[in-house]
Parts: sequence; structure tokens; C-alpha cells
Amino acid sequence: MKFETKAVHMGEEPNLKEGGSGDVVIPIHLSSTFARKKVEAPTQGYEYSRTGNPTRKALENRLASLEGAGYGLAFASGMAAENTLALTLLQTGDHLIAFDDLYGGTRRLFDRVFFKNFQVEASYVDARDPQKIRKAIRKNTRMIWLESPTNPLMNLCDIRAISRIAKEAHLLVVVDNTFMTPYFQNPLQLGADVVVHSTTKYLNGHSDSVGGALMLSDEKLYLQLKFNQNATGAILSPFDSFLVLRGIKTLAVRMKEHEKNGLRIARYLENHPRVRKVYYPGLKSHPQYDLAKKQMSGFGGMLSFEIDGGLKKADRFLGNLKLFALAESLGGVESLIEHPARMTHASVPPEVRKKVGITDSLIRISVGIENIDDLIEDLDQAFKKIA
Ligand SMILES: *Cc1c(COP(=O)(O)O)cnc(C)c1O
Repeated sequence: MKFETKAVHMGEEPNLKEGGSGDVVIPIHLSSTFARKKVEAPTQGYEYSRTGNPTRKALENRLASLEGAGYGLAFASGMAAENTLALTLLQTGDHLIAFDDLYGGTRRLFDRVFFKNFQVEASYVDARDPQKIRKAIRKNTRMIWLESPTNPLMNLCDIRAISRIAKEAHLLVVVDNTFMTPYFQNPLQLGADVVVHSTTKYLNGHSDSVGGALMLSDEKLYLQLKFNQNATGAILSPFDSFLVLRGIKTLAVRMKEHEKNGLRIARYLENHPRVRKVYYPGLKSHPQYDLAKKQMSGFGGMLSFEIDGGLKKADRFLGNLKLFALAESLGGVESLIEHPARMTHASVPPEVRKKVGITDSLIRISVGIENIDDLIEDLDQAFKKIA
């Protein structure tokens, strides 16, 4: 079955068996508990909704099938998914290697929770060069945590090459695939072990639900994760599960539009005299354009750029926009714009921001699926006002 078909059908096959109602859309199962016929075992497989819920299960099956994984798990947020994974894989004294340009909340989880409470040490390396990962491996290294492209600088890492290095050293590779979605990138096929998503972003796609997911194929690890999901309890609600199931049905259609608009805006910005630099993997000027073409089947709708001028210019430009909402988050149908240094990446220490290149001139856009002419017109009038 092809991607678009799976996105519409997987996990939501109508129940036409005796007693089934044949719903084309799975019901939102709100029941917190499930009756059984005998004490020994749950009759229909469900006992209590933290442990398992039919609406969430439908979503988990769909998520697994989209990433080509054996198993999926849905959580209350992307961070809940990450936390459950980290709690499952890491113990006091362990070490992990991560890309030095990660989602700010991921770095905060490692530094301010796992390092502070459990002395789990993280080495942040420039994973654009796989050899830097190899050099950072220690005796107590347990996993490698990657994002590609990164947020907000759109740096890539070679997932296949790094996974090979990891296999030699018996390390797990985790890839946060939120930016690309399984429509444009399949980390498990490139050799990674676990995929992380914030379903809040493209998978749900309509900026009206916060959620997260893990997809993987190793049964032993899945059972451990499932145990910890139930033990720690940060599960996705039945209503949010329904929303994400619904959102995913149009994922393929939306991603094509996000990409089309993303590329147009990237090219527009690249030719604009008030723009110093554009970060978008679909531009030939992107230093890793060849890797992007090889590793991804599309370039997505996220980009960032450096405006010509500092904080004041950036503020005036952002204040002039009418269509782009000044807001954190990404991946919804509406276009959003933000200032990473003071918004999404404010929790990253200033010296780290400086080192990785998140300057005060940097602006990030999540390109929506509005008409491209309206989007460019809005950017145009905002630039003219600061000229
Ligand atoms: C938003 C995001 C997260 C965190 O997800 P939440 O749903 O906000 O908890 C993790 N990784 C990336 C790349 C994100 O964009």
C-alpha cells in the first residue's frame, strides 16, 4: 500500500463484523475503563485507558505504518515521547551524543533534567560531519540523538552514515523526524532505530492539538517503552488521537503544498536585497543540497533567513506583517513567523546560540498552504516599510 492510501486508511478499517457498526471514522472512545467477562484477562484487549485505548491504538497503528515501523506509541506531547524514550534508554552515569543544533526543548530535557538529576552526560557535536560523532563515542555512550534538518538553521546530518558508525559501536540512533514527516524522510529505512515526532506540528497539521509519538521496530524495546508509557502516564487523549488521525489523512496533500510554497519563498528571499542569507535545504546554495536530495524525497516547509540589520530591523519587519502570525510552533496550514533567539530558542544559553549561529538577525518561517501570491505580497510590503 502506498503512503497516501495508508495515511487515509491504516488503523481505521470499518468494523463490519457481527456487532460492529461499520463506522468509516473510528469513534472517540472516551471510556476510561473496559468491562471484561472473566477476571483473568480483558475480554477485548482493553482494561484501562492509560494502558490502552481503541482510538489511540488506531492512531498508533497508523503512525507505525507511515514510518514503516513495527510499532507506534502516542504521547501527550513531543516532549512526553522524548522523556519516555530517554527514561527507558538512559541510566545514571550514561552518556549520549546529540546534534549541537537541536530543538531547544530537547536540549533543556537533557541538560536541566537528565544531567541535573541523573548525571546523564550529553556531548553536543556538529553532526554534519559523521566523523565528529565517531570521535565523541565513549565507553558509557548509549545513544545518538539526531535531527535533520535542524531547527532553526536547517543543518543536515547523514543519517545512513551515522547509523553505520552507531551499529559498529552497538549504539541506538534516535531521529526526531518532526520537520520532514514520514512523507519526505524515513529514518528507519536509513538505519535509525527509533523515530520521534511532535505530532503537534505537521502530522496533526492544524495547530489545534499537542501530541507526540515514537515509532520503532524492535519488539523488546517497544515492550519496555509501552511499559514505561503506562507507568509514567503521559498518554495522548482519545480526542487528540482522533484529531491527529484526521490530520494525517491530508498529510501528503499538505506536505506537497508546504514544500511548493517553501521553495518559492526561499527563492524570493534569496533574491531580496534586505536579506543576507537563507537557510533552506531545497536551495542549490544550501551547503548540503546534495545530501538533502539523496536523503529526503522533498525539502519541506521550514526555512529561516538573516535579515540585513540587527534586532531592531527584525522587530520592525515582524511587526509589519499582516498574514504571517508571530508565533512559536510550526507545521500547521497557516504561515507562522518567529524570532528564534527570543522565542523558540530563548532557553538556549546565549553563548551556545552564538556558537551554532542563531543570531539576533535570524527569523524562522513555517510556510503554510495559503496562496503563494498573498504570502509574498505580505513579505514584500513588510520589507518595503523597513527600507
Ligand atoms: C515541537 C518540537 C518538539 C517538542 O514537541 P511538543 O509537542 O511541543 O512537546 C520536539 N522536536 C521538534 C523538532 C519540535 O519541533
